[in-house]
Amino acid sequence: MKKILVTGACGQIGSELVTKLRNTYGEDNVIATDIRKAQDGSMEQLFETCDVRKAENMYNLAKKYNVDTIMHLAALLSAKAEAAPKLAWDLNMGGLINALEVARELGLQFFTPSSIGAFGPSTPKDETPQEALQRPTTMYGVNKVAGELLCDYYYQRFGVDTRGLRFPGLISYKTLPGGGTTDYAVEIYYEAIKNKTYTSYIGEGTYMDMMYLPDALNAIIDLMEADSDKLIHRNAFNISAISAAPEDFAKAIQKHQPEFTIKYDVDPIRQKIADSWPNRMDSSAAVMEWNYSFNYDLDTMTADMLEKLQAKVIKQ
Ligand code: NAD
Repeated sequence: MKKILVTGACGQIGSELVTKLRNTYGEDNVIATDIRKAQDGSMEQLFETCDVRKAENMYNLAKKYNVDTIMHLAALLSAKAEAAPKLAWDLNMGGLINALEVARELGLQFFTPSSIGAFGPSTPKDETPQEALQRPTTMYGVNKVAGELLCDYYYQRFGVDTRGLRFPGLISYKTLPGGGTTDYAVEIYYEAIKNKTYTSYIGEGTYMDMMYLPDALNAIIDLMEADSDKLIHRNAFNISAISAAPEDFAKAIQKHQPEFTIKYDVDPIRQKIADSWPNRMDSSAAVMEWNYSFNYDLDTMTADMLEKLQAKVIKQ
């Protein structure tokens, strides 16, 4: 991995992944692309507008910069995909196959994330096995399962070096999340800083897998650098770090802000999605095949989020 094109680079993951990749592989070796510019004006350098539904555009950029890797992040996330299922299919599947075709034609290494959303209500919820029944009931989940299979297909049929991770809900402070079901786990920290109270759209007792973004970024690089011969589940590794419900976030915040309170006003659509997802995945395949590990638990993540957000809110 020496020269990397990132799609959807202005989103929650991409906005921090691009910086991390530039620090790791060099400023000139990461081409950030998105359909829109970054909200904060960052990423002006080596940025190109690219709609992933336009295959030729992506191909031309990959060729222009002579990249050897595509990291394909452009997608419509779970809650937004439920509101616009046809758009989700066109973007999530159309963009993916376009990106895979570019990787096939140019012989590139390929990464794209799957999600806990690839599981459904009939999947075992606790210690969800690497290989489990996948019958998701959301458009996002349908896209993610099909995407995992499509990436496997491009590896088996065409030898494209495809790799992927089933991300939990990701928590970060730089860029707001883009319309997923786990977004509450980011909002709660903003509201803790601003108002010392949060009304959760996900109900009490609803456990989901979560991860602090720095751990997710390390996992991407570790997987991409892993020895290809050791990868058995190359496109859809379960990776788990934190299993938590809204009240667990509230308790972790109260250790820093005893006056913080949480209330509930459940959104039935997002609650239904959350109820269909695992409480915690089993990451043993990732540990065995490429030494997956994570640094942040709920308490260490909470301390860091509150500190970083406090500084961000003071600056604004
Ligand atoms: P996001 O919504 O924050 O960012 C997606 C980016 O894609 C946006 O910047 C958007 O402008 C861009 N985009 C939208 N349509 C486009 C198009 N037609 N062409 C090019 N770019 C387009 O998403 P994210 O959280 O950064 O997620 C990235 C990937 O990780 C997705 O595949 C998502 O399913 C997956 N994932 C994310 C999470 C999470 O919690 N954030 C969890 C599991 C999996």
